[in-house]
Amino acid sequence: MTASRRPRLGVMGGTFDPIHHGHLVAASEAAARFDLDEVIFVPTGKPSFKQHQKVSAPEHRYLMTVIATASNPRFTVSRVDVDRPGLTYTVDTLRDLRELRPEADLYFISGADAIEQMLTWKDADDLWKMAHFVAVSRPGHRLSVDSLPPGVVSTLEIPALAISSTECRQRAEAGQPVWYLVPDGVVQYIAKHGLYRGSAS
Ligand code: ATP
Ligand code: MG
Repeated sequence: MTASRRPRLGVMGGTFDPIHHGHLVAASEAAARFDLDEVIFVPTGKPSFKQHQKVSAPEHRYLMTVIATASNPRFTVSRVDVDRPGLTYTVDTLRDLRELRPEADLYFISGADAIEQMLTWKDADDLWKMAHFVAVSRPGHRLSVDSLPPGVVSTLEIPALAISSTECRQRAEAGQPVWYLVPDGVVQYIAKHGLYRGSAS
């Protein structure tokens, strides 16, 4: 990091139910491309887009995220969304992180599927001013930012990992392995706490 420039902070929001290697590669690739000093993973509290679906307790998702990121000195985890009551909206996440880290420039990292929905996010017009957005490629989704205001979202092609948390949950429920789809410690955490048994969605 040069002394003259502001710290660059990646923000990787997600439900992380469970966190998998697709999330970790997205964060790592964005960090390399945009010379980020740190990437903060932010597990959602109650996701606004998943109100009608069963989501594991925030504490489980937070701890799996800590386990998955522990070995990377540039990866950290924030509790801002887990600890805020009510539904989680990205605008609140960014507001909180800007308050906590006023010296930094924020880079919000999002997959192609999530970025498609961005115009429907709460206070979308304010979001552009709060962070730069990085849209990463994801198998099965077209990486397009044509409908978004010009200049606020960068696109980034990353190695294709066709992994989703939904599939990990379904595999865990069916007794199929999730080894190598999620970090080893997360495999063991899922087994230890019996997550996703009889509840895959
Ligand atoms: P679910 O199936 O439960 O929706 P998910 O795999 O989509 O889980 P989320 O926690 O919803 O994971 O996603 C968090 C962020 O990570 C989103 O911006 C999403 O687009 C991105 N993401 C998830 N999986 C990948 C992947 N395999 N490649 C690139 N980006 C991904
Ligand atoms: Mg998702």
